Amino acid sequence: MSFRNRFTFITLAVLALNACSSAPTARSLAQDAVRAMGGTEKLQSIKTLSMKGGTGTRLRMGQMVKATDEENPGQLKNVVDIVDLANGRASLDYDLQNGGFMQHRHEILTKRGDKPVGIEIVGTRPIIATSPGGLFSWGTQNSPDFLLRRNAVTIALSAAESAADSQPAQDKELNGKMYKFATGKTKDGQDLGLYFDPQSKTLAAYEVVDTETILGDVPAQYIVSDYKAVDGITLPHHITVRKAGKDYSDVQFSSVAVNDPAVEQVFAIPESAAAEAEKAAAADEYSPMKITKVGNGVYHAQGYSHHTMIVEFPQWLALMDAPYTETQTKMLWRAIQEQFPAKPVKYVAVSHHHYDHIGGLRAAAAMGATILVEKGHEPILRPLLEARHTHPQDELDRRRNGQSAQTVGTLEVYEGNKIISEGGQSFGLYPITGSPHVDPMVLGYASSARALFQPDLYTPPSTMPGGPAAVHLAQSIKKLNLKVDTMVGGHGGVGTYADFLKAAVAPASSN
Ligand SMILES: [Zn+2]
Repeated sequence: MSFRNRFTFITLAVLALNACSSAPTARSLAQDAVRAMGGTEKLQSIKTLSMKGGTGTRLRMGQMVKATDEENPGQLKNVVDIVDLANGRASLDYDLQNGGFMQHRHEILTKRGDKPVGIEIVGTRPIIATSPGGLFSWGTQNSPDFLLRRNAVTIALSAAESAADSQPAQDKELNGKMYKFATGKTKDGQDLGLYFDPQSKTLAAYEVVDTETILGDVPAQYIVSDYKAVDGITLPHHITVRKAGKDYSDVQFSSVAVNDPAVEQVFAIPESAAAEAEKAAAADEYSPMKITKVGNGVYHAQGYSHHTMIVEFPQWLALMDAPYTETQTKMLWRAIQEQFPAKPVKYVAVSHHHYDHIGGLRAAAAMGATILVEKGHEPILRPLLEARHTHPQDELDRRRNGQSAQTVGTLEVYEGNKIISEGGQSFGLYPITGSPHVDPMVLGYASSARALFQPDLYTPPSTMPGGPAAVHLAQSIKKLNLKVDTMVGGHGGVGTYADFLKAAVAPASSN
């Protein structure tokens, strides 16, 4: 063996030995992934990330006609997701189209002083401020807070810090491709599954348990791809989210900007919401809530956009709907305790299973109310009420699984009409079928004020043509032979039955 050959042999032997002894560990893979993105220092210098020009789809909006129907994806357009890592703020701005429904939504988690505050901007409605739990979202993520905790930069950095040196990586398949798989922890200590691309070394996907408003604790998968260079940092431009093994959202962004000073403006509290933001910052929990009297023994509890009807009985109250968010229901309970200090809420009836109208039901059950559910809605309502909610823990989970478990409200399923009567008051629940909006929709009828509550089929006090859902509602009320004077809206306000009849016609066709 010549000197040269001998040298080559030794070099190869050393290389081979190295390759064996340094089979990648969880930590080395996570560190490689950070390096592939530009290195720890570069990633730590990111204060804000603005992902712009997003287009894609969103599921799990829960707008199916029947509770057991497959869901059609909503279309997301003009998506701008901004995360402010330095200050713990985030913003989801998007246009959403789901069938004939179109809405521009913008949910912002910002701060007033040190206190986190939510700002919600929906279409042309007045802008509101809430505590962070009062935000509702149909964006890429379920809330701006998710974007803050689940973005690729935050996850890559916490993976590199937490992944063990002693843990050898495994080979694991994801969507038909093999990856190096290892585990780590999120910043707040949740278990993290990590998929690394063996060629590019980038973080390809991560798995973590998300606590979803409606779905509860679910295994979530974030698949990040289309890495492109942005100011010397390599960042994913395509985010796909799957929850409980099903598609959740899929958004392709056209550009990502790092430390764009213009984002400051997005987190500024709009003048029109300043007073309310002050309220939200001062309270431990806040979202808009106002109770007004509709008629004898009947009240309208108006949140931001989704409302409740209150029916007063001699000893207790029955409600219809606990919509939108847990925060809204907590505010509703507070307002009820002020106005009816001696009357507990015995029942909360559910109008229909659409996610935006059931987000507060767990809080209502936590407060001890029996949740009245029509059989057709049970496939969504039972899992909603039975799920664990641990990250963060919600009030129902705390009371059920806390140190000393407390008695909470249960679910009561009924089929067909259900009438609750006591002391001269009666509250009728009438499921109607065949509506183009949802099947069934339960109408709530309070006899003392001849008031009828429903959301989504008709919005009082409008007299504008309401379309097929309003026409079907008018036919259903007639068939049920209900004597209605007042229409109480799950959206909007309160109106007369006469005005409803004017609206219960299809819009004039243009041809
Ligand atoms: Zn609906």
